[in-house]
Amino acid sequence: MRPARGCCCHFNNAINNCFNLRYRRTLKTPSLAAEFPFVAVASPPTRLSLSLRRRLLTVASSSAATMSSSPSYDKELAAAKKAVSLASRLCQARSQAVVSLVLQRELPADPFSLVAEEDSGDLRDDSAQDIRARITELVNDTLSTDESSSSTLSVEQVLKAIDCGVSEGGATGRHWVLDPIDGTKGFVRGDQYAIALGLLDGGKVVLGALACPNLPLTSIAGANQQPSSGEVGCIFFAKLGSGTYMQPLEGGPAVEVHVTATENPEEASFFESYEAAHSLRGLTGSIAEKLGVKAPPVRIDSQAKYGALSRGDGAIYMRFPHKGYREKIWDHAAGCIVVTEAGGLVTDAAGKDLDFSKGRFLDLDTGIISTNAKLMPLLLKAVKESLKEGESCSSSM
Ligand code: AMP
Ligand code: MG
Repeated sequence: MRPARGCCCHFNNAINNCFNLRYRRTLKTPSLAAEFPFVAVASPPTRLSLSLRRRLLTVASSSAATMSSSPSYDKELAAAKKAVSLASRLCQARSQAVVSLVLQRELPADPFSLVAEEDSGDLRDDSAQDIRARITELVNDTLSTDESSSSTLSVEQVLKAIDCGVSEGGATGRHWVLDPIDGTKGFVRGDQYAIALGLLDGGKVVLGALACPNLPLTSIAGANQQPSSGEVGCIFFAKLGSGTYMQPLEGGPAVEVHVTATENPEEASFFESYEAAHSLRGLTGSIAEKLGVKAPPVRIDSQAKYGALSRGDGAIYMRFPHKGYREKIWDHAAGCIVVTEAGGLVTDAAGKDLDFSKGRFLDLDTGIISTNAKLMPLLLKAVKESLKEGESCSSSM
């Protein structure tokens, strides 16, 4: 579990207690290092929902297609990329403040609505005065590295920027959806985490930018969270109808990425959460076995899984939280469009598209699965069978 919303003191203590040489090695951005000096198809064999059938028919050509009557979202995507790149030098509330401020500054004419995880509650405590001052300093330092930044922000302006994230989202209008640090546990361990920013327009995700500061630029197929000797730090970005691209977080050419084209589950590997508490491993293991997947699961934190899936490092992502857990939209919005624009599908366990129009939570059937269009029917069939077996086991106990 990540620290409670807005629990910056708790989070800072966790970081302060963490001496992680591997993380220190991956810290490439000077201001980040300064911030943490101590952190050393076959025909479908199962009945598919109408929406999934429609997706299967259109997915092959969707990357190139642009809807002539749709807005282009070009300036919004540029603002989102800048926001997550700058925020990737910071953590939690600081990241949220930077994204909020960059979006408002880059898109001054647009009404601003942000659905995000943090608020400034704990930072406003009397005991948090030093932390407030430090956060304000770091936010100002980070923003000053961008040439369009001019004035120095006060503590209150930074706290207000964090508190912009209270929007409820919904089916009408535009709403930014942010997870300022997705995969907090991975972040603290020095493993994978992401800054995930999406834009909803009329309840649909229309663009996403996913900064993954510790994700190697080359494939992590089969690597789990092994330390990488290669370069790390990727940003994935996608706009509706325009494909998905990956770029080094420190700058460089963007390349278009695609999900794997494999049709053979025996060649497929699957991603799941690193944290055992976040997904039912017995169930994902049973599904993988039914599919005939031979490779062991690749377990990494955060929406970095969606990024890795979008460039074909693995073929399948399965997420089955324990009963009662409610998925939040900021844990999937950016990752979802990054995968779908790369030619993949993301659905709930019943094969329905994820519905981002219902507010801060996703109302969905049982779990989230993602793969390419060819493997999806087989995956859905295996999911259905494994869930049914699980039900009959629990009812006979
Ligand atoms: P992952 O590393 O893919 O498991 O995703 C990390 C995200 O899982 C965090 O940002 C949390 O929002 C979310 N999370 C926290 N607790 C749980 C839980 N019990 N089950 C599923 N997801 C959770
Ligand atoms: Mg998260």
